[in-house]
Order: sequence, then structure tokens, then C-alpha cells
Amino acid sequence: MASTLTHQFDTPVYKGAVTFPTQLFINGEFVDPLDKGTIDVINPATCKVIARVSVGCRKDIEVAVQAARTAYKQHWGLKVSGPDRSKLLHKLADLVEANIEHLAALEALNVGKTFCAAKAVDIPTAVSLLRYYAGWADKIQGKSIQACLSTTLDKIGFTRHEPIGVVGAIVPWNFPRLYLRLQRDSALTPFRLVSMLVMKLAPALACGNAAVAKPSEFTPLSALFLCTLIQEAGFPPGVINIVPGYGDTAGQAICENMIIDKVAFTGSTLTGRKIMEAAARSNLKKISLELGGKSPNIIFDDADVEQAVKWAISGIFANQGEICVAGSRIYVQAGIYDDFLQKFTHSAQHLRLGDPFSPDTFQGPQISERQFETPILRRKRVMDYIKSGQAEGATLHLGGKRHGTEGYFIQPTIFTGCKPNMKIVKEEIFGPVAAVMKFATEEEVIEQANNTTYGLACSVFTKDIDRAMRVASNIEAGTAWVNFTNWPDLGLPFGGFKQSGVGKDLGEYALENYTNVKAVLINIGMKI
Ligand code: NAD
Repeated sequence: MASTLTHQFDTPVYKGAVTFPTQLFINGEFVDPLDKGTIDVINPATCKVIARVSVGCRKDIEVAVQAARTAYKQHWGLKVSGPDRSKLLHKLADLVEANIEHLAALEALNVGKTFCAAKAVDIPTAVSLLRYYAGWADKIQGKSIQACLSTTLDKIGFTRHEPIGVVGAIVPWNFPRLYLRLQRDSALTPFRLVSMLVMKLAPALACGNAAVAKPSEFTPLSALFLCTLIQEAGFPPGVINIVPGYGDTAGQAICENMIIDKVAFTGSTLTGRKIMEAAARSNLKKISLELGGKSPNIIFDDADVEQAVKWAISGIFANQGEICVAGSRIYVQAGIYDDFLQKFTHSAQHLRLGDPFSPDTFQGPQISERQFETPILRRKRVMDYIKSGQAEGATLHLGGKRHGTEGYFIQPTIFTGCKPNMKIVKEEIFGPVAAVMKFATEEEVIEQANNTTYGLACSVFTKDIDRAMRVASNIEAGTAWVNFTNWPDLGLPFGGFKQSGVGKDLGEYALENYTNVKAVLINIGMKI
């Protein structure tokens, strides 16, 4: 079994080699899986196999969990002070920063995002995220609370925010480690999201938990490279374990495990349900779920149309539309509808698709053949949705076809004439497909925007601050952006309402996911 991968890059933007082990990272070492399982990793821009990496089975997860539990009890958890945890997170941040080009190259190779975007924004933001939570590690504290039922000062009460124990982290492929995107085209404004695996690991570790993480089976490379940096940073063995594997084996094993105390998940709503069920069937572990979305982008007549167009383009077509918060339902008020549609179409037509290693590329390939067009069970895929939009009577206004003959590229696609009950309006497509709809009044658009099972994010474009506030507060979504799209901030909570999630990532709020609050009462004089 190949246990080390060396990939030589000779591209217009990056020349060099990256070498790292391709086994499971358990207890501080790279080890073979017990059943010797492997998966072929594909470059979605060429459909060619680029690596063969180990995949963990149920038994490997058990071994990793035991390692995490032992490390938590003996070398981590309450045994390591906040400042010492902070130092390790800062060290890891420095190492990630020093390896920006290697990581960006792996992201471009394995995920199809552009190298330039990964280098300029994705990886630097993962560094920021590590530093942000390194800053929290020595500030995880409770409160002193005067006991309500006491009329005398004979008791002192306070809370402690303790680590939960072993955290299972399961993440998707669209931003395997990182979750940012910068537009190369200077006419388009950069938008910012944040990291995925790091988004779970950084707060979990800052709070003193140990972790067993499973990246997506499609995109394990950058996570494996990260393991080499975790080793170098000097975390005690077993505190962080990373086991690439399939969802229905390794992922399921994490969710059903009786020792894991919490699962932090990002992925589809369908899988989120399974995780909730598995947690309920096993040890009632805590869960936080960052799930799918069908975010409305609402553009009023008084908006700056040029800006609204640029943000709308970024909102739906960046990262190939593989963004949970993608503004895929674009509602435009009647007075500017024609002008907006003409400019939006013109911009979409001129987006460059192609090699993620070309400095001019805006849009790379979809992640996999499966995501491109093969429906699995009841889940439709991008090309399938495009067909369903046409079959249900929407107008295919732009795109809708494969781009080129190699790789999983899909043309930026715009539908008009959409009705609320169409699948392309109701369901998450997770591809470069926008449904543009005309509306008349504020009340009408709020009703339409809320007519969804999802509630991840929304955008509203208007110069009227009163209306902006009204709409932002009336849309049922975890994040509301006014006059921009897709811009989570490290310091602000991120998570969905309705079927888009449970709990919050990012900011101080994320710490709640990774701590148990204990009330301590001290008797200082009460006698019986
Ligand atoms: P997915 O749900 O298919 O897989 C996500 C992860 O879950 C993968 O690691 C997979 O192996 C694992 N998994 C699959 N079945 C499992 C099971 N039964 N038990 C445990 N783990 C299992 O999602 P995906 O296709 O990888 O990613 C796309 C989805 O992720 C979209 O729906 C998107 O909206 C969502 N997403 C949400 C956010 C957010 O922050 N809300 C961010 C990015 C992506």
C-alpha cells in the first residue's frame, strides 16, 4: 500500500513538490487502516486519479476514539492550561501560514478551487481562525452568580465551562479545510467565508477537547497534509486524530460511538438527520449541525444595481456554486428587473471556467462525477436539476451545459420564469445555477423568501436602512447580509434556522458547542 504521496506541481502559478503520508493519523502517528482499505482520489478538473489514500473502517474509528479519550484524560482536558493550549494553536497557525502554497496547491488539485483564491484568502483565513480561537483558549470562563434561593450570604455559586471530552468532527468536500474565496476578476468584489475542518478543530481544542475528525472521502489531501503540521506543532499524541473514510462506515461509526461526547458536523441536511438519529440511538451525544441552504438574495428597486450584480454573481457562482450560503434564489424588484437581468447575464457569460491553476480562472470544476450528474437515492445532482428546471417549465436563460470535454465543469446557468413550487427554487442544487425571479412588494418577497424548509442565510440590497432592517429581521435565516453576499465573519456566529442547522459555528458562540457548563455551590456557613 502506498503510504506517502509526492505530487509535483508545474503550473503557471505554482511550481514545487508536496510530500506527505496518506495513511490514517491516529495517536500522533500515520498508521495503516486495520482492513487495508483505500480510496482513489480524483482531480475534478481532469477526472484523473491523483492519489490513493487509506480509509478508516469502524474499528479504526474505535482505535482513534480510544487514543483521543486517553489523551484527553492524561495529557489534555483539565491537565493543560489555557495559555498552553493557546501556544499550541498559535504554533499550528504559524505552520499553516508557512505552508500556504503547499496547502493552496492541494486544494486546487483535489477540490478544483483556484490556486490563487486558496492562496490569497482560504489559507490565510484558516490561519486567522486558529489564531482567533488561540486567543480564546485562556478566556474560557464561567460566572460568579449569587444564589437566588438564598437570603443570606452562606453560599457562593459559580459556573465552570469545562471541556466536553472527545469531539467527533465530520466535514464535507466543498471546503475541506478552508472556506473562503477571492474573486480573481477585479471587477468582482472578494467575499469571505471561513474554514471547515479548522472551524471545528480550533474551538474544540481551545476549550480543551480532544478530537477525531473525518474529512470527506472526496477531499482528504489537505487534511492529511495538515496532520504533518499538527505533528510538528507538538500537540500531545491522540489529542487530534484524522481518519479519512466513507460516511456510512467511518462517519456513522463516529456518530454511534458511545465514548464520543459530541459531534460537530457540516454537510447536507439528509446526512444531518442521520447524525441526529445516530446520536439519539447511541449515547445522546451533543450535536451541532451546519446543513444545507437555499438562500434568498433580495434586490430592491433603490439598490445600486452595478454592485448588486457583482455581489449576486459572487453569491451564486463563486466556488462553482458549491457554497451552503449560495444566493441561489435571486428576487429582483420589478422596476430594475430587466436592467439587473441584462447586467447579471452579461457578467455570468464572461466568467472564466477552466484550470484551477490558471491565474485567470474564476470557476473550477464541480467536485465529482456524482455531484455533476449522477442522482444517488433521492438526491438530485446539478445537471439533473437543470433538466428538471426545463421540464417544469422554467426558462433556461443562460448556460445549462457541460463546459469543455474534460473535467466536471458546468456553465454558469440562469433560469427565469421560475415558480415557487419548482425543484430548482425549492431544493439545494449546490452548483452554478441561479433562479432569478421578479417581485412587486416587500411583503410579497418576504413571504416568498421564507417559503423554504431552509434558513441558512439571506442578502438584501437596498439604500433604505429602515427597509433593510425590516427585511433582515423578517427573513427566517441565521445570517442576514445587507448590501453584500456570502461574508461570514470570524467573530460573528454562523449557523442555520429551520432545517439548515442546529447550533452555531464561529465567534464566541461556537464555544458553547464545546463546553459543558457546571454549576458549583459552596456552603460557607449553613448548618443543619
Ligand atoms: P454530505 O452530507 O454528503 O457529507 C458530509 C460529510 O458527512 C462527509 O464527510 C461524508 O462522508 C459524511 N457522511 C455521509 N453520510 C454519513 C453518515 N451516515 N454518518 C456520518 N457521516 C456521514 O455533504 P457533502 O455532499 O459532502 O457536502 C455538501 C453539503 O454540505 C451541502 O448540502 C451543503 O449545503 C452542506 N454544507 C453546509 C455548510 C454550512 O456551514 N451550513 C457548509 C458547507 C457545506
